Amino acid sequence: MKKKLVLIFTTLVSTFLLAACGGNDETADDSLKIVTSFSILADLAEQVAGERAEVEYLVPIGEEPHEYETVPSDFQKVSDADVFFVNGFGLEEWLERLVQNVGDVSIVSVSDGVTPLPISDQDGEDPHAWLDVKNVITYVENIRDDLIKRDPEGADEYEANANAYIAELEELHTWIETEVETIEESKRAIVISENAFKYFGDQYGFDTIGIWELNSHEEGTPRQIANVVDTISERSIPVVFVETTVDKRYMETVANDAGVEIAGEVYTDAVGLDGSGAETYIKMMEHNVRTFVEGLSN
Ligand SMILES: [Zn+2]
Repeated sequence: MKKKLVLIFTTLVSTFLLAACGGNDETADDSLKIVTSFSILADLAEQVAGERAEVEYLVPIGEEPHEYETVPSDFQKVSDADVFFVNGFGLEEWLERLVQNVGDVSIVSVSDGVTPLPISDQDGEDPHAWLDVKNVITYVENIRDDLIKRDPEGADEYEANANAYIAELEELHTWIETEVETIEESKRAIVISENAFKYFGDQYGFDTIGIWELNSHEEGTPRQIANVVDTISERSIPVVFVETTVDKRYMETVANDAGVEIAGEVYTDAVGLDGSGAETYIKMMEHNVRTFVEGLSN
């Protein structure tokens, strides 16, 4: 998935872009350089930028983005970027530390305009807005608007790419609405390690129950595990799920104690590795929905 899109510009376009980007290192290649905090945003940026930009991301696939430990090469990547797209809503808790160590870089929060949901048991915003497809349409519009401002010459291309992608997202949204209808209302509950599906649940009609609320909080204490086991029993929830980016042992304990099955692995904080079938945002959402439908329809 970590494909780099490098465009070979004509001399004319390179000259223009160099000017537009404030004359970056002239020996480097001339395409727009986008860095995103994590892999899901990189996919969205690639969809909009097409071949006009090179897109990289910081948090490796398989790691969670909340408490990520930056490595030295991250500072270089961000310093060299024309723009650094972040999620916002407090997802990147390491952002401040990173920013202190890079030069002037334009940081854009792609969740601007999305209505945040609170973290259940306390103040603060839940960052996982991308798990509602409608919110991702706002993300894509923000990315499009930013790239048009940064590289006006590419406006038509960004506009066309964004429109085509938004059409796919609308289709995905409708597909999810249809798919989840096959699950009985009483069974529409997602039990997961980190309670990351609140936006998804809000949009598509699921209750969501996490062992813990946010990965950066205390994870998997005996009390948290006991609470989830109780909820599963009280509500006769048939199955639970695990994430690709979270240690599965906590949910294995819950499943054991509650006497239910782990019905599958879903993607929350990262897309899938090459060959996983979940290499893009759309594919990961399709995978998640199929996993929920299969697990909860029996
Ligand atoms: Zn998360």
